[in-house]
Amino acid sequence: MVLYDGFINRLSELVKDKKELPRSTKELQNGSKNDIIFGRDTAFELGGSQKPCVSTLAVSSDMHFSNKAYLVGRDLPQITGDSPFGKIVLVEIDEQTDDDTAFNTVKELEQVKYKFYVRDFMTRASALNMREQIRVGKNAVKSGVSFADYGQKLIDTFLQNEKVKSVEVVFLTDFDGYKELNSVAEKIKETTSALNHILDNVMFDCSTCNLKPICDEVEGMKELHQKHK
Ligand code: SF4
Repeated sequence: MVLYDGFINRLSELVKDKKELPRSTKELQNGSKNDIIFGRDTAFELGGSQKPCVSTLAVSSDMHFSNKAYLVGRDLPQITGDSPFGKIVLVEIDEQTDDDTAFNTVKELEQVKYKFYVRDFMTRASALNMREQIRVGKNAVKSGVSFADYGQKLIDTFLQNEKVKSVEVVFLTDFDGYKELNSVAEKIKETTSALNHILDNVMFDCSTCNLKPICDEVEGMKELHQKHK
């Protein structure tokens, strides 16, 4: 799976000034999908109040990642109100036996954000617009939870999947490049849609296909469809 490699390079370039976070030994408690953090118990919301907010995940089978979390901007203890928020997750997976298996792995990893429940954090993620807002509870702030702690738990969750070889997570709060990040995240989403389309055995006719712009941009897409037609 190398279709996303060009976008991974663009994302890495975009956050080249990221700061490495220390490995956390603090064990955050699991939450549950029914946990609700009401307004009165909320310290702030990452991506709240219509601030810029982008979440993306890209997968590669030939790039290795550091199993570390990184940050651009303020850490959780320094944030005092609703803040812009970005999250980039890069995942190395085993070379998959066939394209359908690779696609299913991508979809499976994309689901993690809907199932990652941490006590005193409440996530609302949208596949449609790539926003992932996280409500941070006052209890989390009181106990000094940082992105290093939250990121470590997220990394450990990905690594529990036997197809995952390595992972890297970048959190963004104060960041100038949300527009560019959103544009790369949009292309990653389009690549996954095109992959879905190709594997659905849809007719191979680029002249009438609305996915042509992304297939023109991503190396290997047309060859993939040619192989599956
Ligand atoms: S290769 Fe052509 S037909 Fe296939 S998804 Fe891309 S643009 Fe559409």
